[in-house]
Amino acid sequence: MSPCYRRSVSAAALAAFLALPLAAQAQEAVPQNDLMNATVWMETSVEYKATVMQLFKLAQTQLDAALADSEWTAVPDKQGEGYADLPVAIVADLDETLMDNGNYQASLVKRGTSYSSSEWTDYVNSQTSGALPGALDFLNYADSQGVKIFYVSNRKNVEKEGTIGNLEALGFPMGGNVDTVLLRGDKEEWGSAKENRIAFVAENYRVALLMGDNFGDFSDAADGSLEERDAALEEAAEHFGKDWIIFPNPEYGSWESATFGGDWSLSPDERRQMKIDAMEAWTPAE
Ligand SMILES: [Mg+2]
Repeated sequence: MSPCYRRSVSAAALAAFLALPLAAQAQEAVPQNDLMNATVWMETSVEYKATVMQLFKLAQTQLDAALADSEWTAVPDKQGEGYADLPVAIVADLDETLMDNGNYQASLVKRGTSYSSSEWTDYVNSQTSGALPGALDFLNYADSQGVKIFYVSNRKNVEKEGTIGNLEALGFPMGGNVDTVLLRGDKEEWGSAKENRIAFVAENYRVALLMGDNFGDFSDAADGSLEERDAALEEAAEHFGKDWIIFPNPEYGSWESATFGGDWSLSPDERRQMKIDAMEAWTPAE
């Protein structure tokens, strides 16, 4: 769009505004909210839905390639000898990878509040998360091919019953007599870093794909500085689009905390300033 066109649109908008009754002109100021645009995009846009749908199509293509090649593994550093003979599994995160929590994020925006651990547990137990578009088709296809799906999530152990109830109601394939929902704290040594849970799956399965919306769903290097994360990405670059499939999440994640050193004790204003400072910006000529 040319600057000239933008000016003419603005003039038209101004004329329309001036034609409104005075009461409508006096629209009350709407509070700014750092979470709003990301949430609106994820809850309402076809662009987000289409992005997710194309990632599940990619996942299916890559799964077929993995099934045709017994040497294929998404985690070569975690498979033991003889892994080619093991049954095949997928390791996938839940929130904003397979499950859609848009109604929770929208609730935060509309109430002008922010995430709290106890309220999140209430939300999980309400079992009102949805399935992202394409998730069930892909997972049921994988299941039909005999692939086990492990849900490796940082939902907490106390949220396990609610999580399983929600997954079952949505029609996600479950593991039968194998516990395939591996949550934070299910074992003492399972913290928020996920690599030891991924390694646990790799003991008995050939891992065809890792799927997640957070770098931490793939690598414990997610908690590093911006520079460390960039270096870790460079090292893992060949995995993405092949056997690691990452989903967009502009609402929250390690990308956000990395901008303020993961220090959640800072005030919201301090964190916002550090995010602004983290960006490289063009300066217009005087
Ligand atoms: Mg997630």
